Amino acid sequence: MTVAAVIDGKEFANRLRARIAGAVPAFVKAAGRKPGLAVVLVGDDPASAVYVGSKGKATVAAGMASFEYRLPADASQDAVESLLQRLNNDGAVDGILLQLPLPTHLDEQSAVGMIDADKDVDGLTPVSTGRLALGIAGLVPCTPLGSLMLLQDQLGDLSGKEAVVIGRSILVGKPMAQLLLGANSTVTLAHSRTRDLAAVVRRADIVVAAVGRPEMVKGDWLKPGAVVIDVGINRLAPAGSEAKGRLVGDVDYHDALPYAQAITPVPGGVGPMTIACLLRNTLVAAHRRAGLSDPEGI
Ligand code: NDP
Repeated sequence: MTVAAVIDGKEFANRLRARIAGAVPAFVKAAGRKPGLAVVLVGDDPASAVYVGSKGKATVAAGMASFEYRLPADASQDAVESLLQRLNNDGAVDGILLQLPLPTHLDEQSAVGMIDADKDVDGLTPVSTGRLALGIAGLVPCTPLGSLMLLQDQLGDLSGKEAVVIGRSILVGKPMAQLLLGANSTVTLAHSRTRDLAAVVRRADIVVAAVGRPEMVKGDWLKPGAVVIDVGINRLAPAGSEAKGRLVGDVDYHDALPYAQAITPVPGGVGPMTIACLLRNTLVAAHRRAGLSDPEGI
């Protein structure tokens, strides 16, 4: 029995981060300033605060400038949008990331839509989404971009591959499908209304699971030799306990091992690629804003 290779996203992300850090000094020399990433956090959600903190640290570790803005949980729509407008006009800021979700009284879509698409390192504005659909150079959401990099590293050319993406969110599923289409795969985008999901998944050479349901995809759903990217991050809480349970993906990892050719683990697969791609997008945005060509090999 063959067992799937483990796709080490942590190792890949570390190498990508090292290449990014290696490319920063040339930018500083050419542009006379560091690439800059501004992260905006509204409210005091502890998980969001942790994410913002680790993004800031990673930015500084790559040799870039990190700007952090915190607004109170009761901040008005106007306050959020005028801060974003100020950052749009700030020459030292190449990337703007509005940490989501926003407190419920705020209109998320309107706020995200304020961000200058050329600084939209999360790739979530309507302009970025449109550019991706049109195949125009733009900034692409980090998690699907990182997933595509892992797939290309594993398989090389993705032309003609049957790809099934499970989940159609704006953040992951839809941009993932667009990226695979752009790489000339034949793409099926599955969701909660898909009939006989197991049969759909069984057609795929490439499976990307972005659902948010612990261990939903079973081994015998997979075509033997499929490459599996598990985007899901789910915490299994032990029944009746307050203790934090272990993290699992949307794919039943151990069940999938005898079927897949290669698979990302959770944690240590797609997760580390997300921050690495945020740094990559910031560096790319900085180059384009400075009128330089995109950095090579990043
Ligand atoms: P959403 O909740 O926005 O979307 C989930 C998608 O899954 C929806 O399109 C939904 O379909 C679909 N879905 C739900 N149930 C089923 C089902 N039974 N069968 C088929 N499809 C189903 O989630 P996200 O895209 O934001 O995130 C998905 C997962 O990825 C989560 O676990 C999240 O934590 C993780 N994630 C990980 C990241 C990382 O850095 N590794 C970054 C972002 C997310 P429908 O549209 O019909 O409702």
